[in-house]
Order: sequence, then C-alpha cells, then structure tokens
Amino acid sequence: MNRREHVFDPGSGERSVTEALTPPNGSPVVVAIDIGGSWIKGALVGADARPTAGERVATPDASEAELVEAVAALTLGLADLAQRRGTPAVAVGISTAGVIDETSGTARRSANLRWRNTALARHLEERTGRRVTLLQDARAAAQAEAVLGAGRDADNFLMVILGTGVGGAVVSGGRPLLGSHGLAGEIGHLQLDPEGPLCGCGGRGCLEMVASGTALSRRYNDATGRLLPAEAVLELVIEGDPVATGLWSDAVSALAVALAAAVAVLDIELVIFGGGMAAAGQLLLDPLANELAARVVLAPPPRLTVAALGNDAGLLGAAAAALRSVGHDGLVRSWQS
Ligand SMILES: [Zn+2]
Repeated sequence: MNRREHVFDPGSGERSVTEALTPPNGSPVVVAIDIGGSWIKGALVGADARPTAGERVATPDASEAELVEAVAALTLGLADLAQRRGTPAVAVGISTAGVIDETSGTARRSANLRWRNTALARHLEERTGRRVTLLQDARAAAQAEAVLGAGRDADNFLMVILGTGVGGAVVSGGRPLLGSHGLAGEIGHLQLDPEGPLCGCGGRGCLEMVASGTALSRRYNDATGRLLPAEAVLELVIEGDPVATGLWSDAVSALAVALAAAVAVLDIELVIFGGGMAAAGQLLLDPLANELAARVVLAPPPRLTVAALGNDAGLLGAAAAALRSVGHDGLVRSWQS
C-alpha cells in the first residue's frame, strides 16, 4: 500500500541533486501533488516548470484518514527535501479528482477517492505552515495546458478529460472558470438521453454513460459478452471490428452533441482532450471534427487537439496555482515564453 517510487529522475544520484540545489536566481519552489484513483504523485516545481524529485505512492482506498495521511506524508517529505536543498518551498498546490470546493480547500466527495467533506487545505496548512491551494483535477490540467501546453495560444477553450469518466474544465481569458459550485465545464454530466442508463452522479443518460472509457468497455461487454478494457476496444476499432466501431461511433456522436452545446454557450475556439482515451488521437479527432462541422454553424467549429503535457499536467497545474496563491503570477506567465 505504501509503495513509494521515484518516477521523474530515477537513479539520478548526486548530480541531479546538485543541479537542483542551485535554481536560477534563487527563484521560488513549490510542492505539487496530484491525487488520482491509483496513485498520489508529488514533485518540486520551480521557475523552469520542470517537476523534480518526483515520487508516487499508491492511493490508499481504505479510509479518509489513510488517504489524508498519505498526502500529508508526501507533502511533508517534499517540503523537507526542498528545505535541505536550501530552497524552501513557498507554497503547496494539490490537484485531486472529485467534487472540490476550491474556495474553502475542501474535497467534498469522489467516485474513486475517500473524500468526505475533507478540509484538506486547512489540515495541510497546519502541518506544513505553507499556503495550500486545492484544485479539481480537470481544472488543474486545464491551467497547465493554458500556460505550457496545447492551450498556450487560445484565450478560451474547453478541456475534456476522457478517462474512467468524462471530466471537463473551461478556460476563459486564460484562467480556469470556477462557476458557482466549482462545476463549470463538467460536460460529462450533460444529459443527452432522459431515458438513458443511470449515471453515478444520480442523473440519467449523461455523456459519460456513452463516451467514457468505462462506458465503452461496459457497452462492448453488453453487446458481446467479452469484458475488455477501453484501450482494447479501441484496438478493435482500428482493426475494423463492427461492434467496436459502432460503439465508438456512438461515443463520438455523443461528444459532438455535447461539444456543440458547449460551443453555443461558451463560444470557444479550441477543445483539448486529455485522459487515457485521448491517446486515440486521430481516431477521435477526425470523425469528431466532421460531426462538429455539421452541427456548429454560427461560428467556425473549434479546433480539436490532444493535451500536450500528458501525465505531468496535474502536477504543473497545481504548481501554477500554488505559485499564484503567493503572488508569483509573473513567474507562471514567464512559463509561457
Ligand atoms: Zn452523470
């Protein structure tokens, strides 16, 4: 359970530590944490926007207390390392899946994590003595893509995370939009079919019930009796399997309907896809572009692309938010150049 691994600079030894001891111009460093259903990842991030000293631990799923303790141990360990390197961390940024109240720093609930109205930011502030910023994971990824990734040249875009579920975030004027309940951009729970299957959110016929990796896998199993992961179903699409192709076509059409609605409301110029299923690449983007062109007529249809930052997006978004929380906005803007 408490397996701990170095993931960013494995086996780097003294040399990388020596390099990291001398950041450019003594610029600030933050602790960045990314909490997912399987792993909690952590790293130190400074002026060069490169995660260093990366570690990950398996995400505890037994209790809220264990989950909080695992996050706290990783955070304190990295803060301690930064201290020993002579560049104390100035703040902490945390990205997590779930329904998050970013204003109070509370992790309300999650389908895959043991959040129970957990006052995570306050708890970690007491233990680290640092400002702690908590972000919902799609918004963290969107923030990172806006500054460093595929959204660098777009003021207004939608980030769609196609993974186990379908998450989303809106970037408006270069910043992730929060909304009144922290749910702006949650396109996965847009209802497409009032008679459709019951969703984990309590609604029926949500986009997520057709277009997520879980849905693709479940629907293929319903149709054939074979339980395969979504990636394997996508392989079958490439091979021309008629059932898999039909289900993928359903997923793409559902996405097109939802995205056309988003375009009408938000007038966005770009949609960035992240999450495991974004690896489908052109298999996703080409048919979706065709369907969108037929549905979006008032303005040019948005450009479609896949996320540029991959697995580091959550950490970098958390780092950007942490730096901004203590006034280093200019440093984050400098990442853009
Ligand atoms: Zn739903």
